[in-house]
Amino acid sequence: MKAAPFDYLRASSLDEAAEALAGTPDARVLAGGQSLVPLLNLRQIRPPLVVDINRLDGLSFLRTDNGRLEIGALTRHRVVEMSEAVRSDVPLLAEAIGYVGHAAIRNRGTIGGSLAHAEPAAELPAVMVALDAEFGVHGPGGERLVAARDFFLGPHRTALGPGELLTRISVPARQGGHAVEELSRRSRELPLVAVFAAVTMSGDVCEAARIAVGGAGPTPIRATTAEESLVGSALTADAIAVAAELAAAATDPPSDLHAPPGYRREMTAVLTRRAIARAKERA
Ligand SMILES: Cc1cc2nc3c(=O)[nH]c(=O)nc-3n(C[C@H](O)[C@H](O)[C@H](O)COP(=O)(O)OP(=O)(O)OC[C@H]3O[C@@H](n4cnc5c(N)ncnc54)[C@H](O)[C@@H]3O)c2cc1C
Repeated sequence: MKAAPFDYLRASSLDEAAEALAGTPDARVLAGGQSLVPLLNLRQIRPPLVVDINRLDGLSFLRTDNGRLEIGALTRHRVVEMSEAVRSDVPLLAEAIGYVGHAAIRNRGTIGGSLAHAEPAAELPAVMVALDAEFGVHGPGGERLVAARDFFLGPHRTALGPGELLTRISVPARQGGHAVEELSRRSRELPLVAVFAAVTMSGDVCEAARIAVGGAGPTPIRATTAEESLVGSALTADAIAVAAELAAAATDPPSDLHAPPGYRREMTAVLTRRAIARAKERA
């Protein structure tokens, strides 16, 4: 099948892109096209206008600045995956990004596209929620910053308003030991459930914990009660088991043809247990 007809604009500035998006309801941004083009070709969406941002300057970069990793929205997954700075400064992101599709998809797909697409089971939204990332947004009203945990509103729904584009992602560097645990039907496809964890230890005691779950709710879920239960503990098997149950209780899994909610909830507990244990080993 081929896409329904649409107008195409290759934007030459952010303002031009924002103005075109604001002026045409249901217009879509084209970044790497790895999610947008299949949706167009299957006619699941029929935007009247597609605004191509691939030629915009200044949206593709990767740098560390003041203890934070700054990523341009148009930066390809593969660039982040291959970066030494990402591996050393934000290892949870470095590990998670290798789970996004296949190399061909990561060569073309962009970080901003993965986040703006807001697929509940996707890796990067959950990682950004786990890491308390901030997103730079450009629109007709100028620039604003949105916290990752306020950005995802539901399946494929974000806090981006009319005419707004995601421009950059800012992630705090260094979060102790980390781990990614995914359950997928086939390797490197969207997971049924995925858990992203990081722990900081002071001697034998857990000083801080971060846990986010993807695929077990309409948005990525930050398991804050589970995190709190771990702080001050020695991350014994019992403490980890309690946290894993708390993480599972925080989920709101969908029912679809791939798995019933109870299965996803139970798998959240299993994957959380494994993720915290592995993060502790690496901390
Ligand atoms: C075979 C296959 C397997 C995949 N497996 C996975 C997987 O395992 N995990 C995973 O997370 N994803 C997976 N994906 C999805 C895909 O990798 C990402 O969703 C994709 O890379 C998104 O980035 P993009 O640049 O291609 O975005 P596009 O497809 O160009 O855009 C996606 C959406 O985001 C919007 N958008 C893009 N950039 C911006 C911006 N800067 N500001 C505002 N809106 C914007 C677009 O309008 C569109 O609605 C898979 C895709 C395929 C085809």
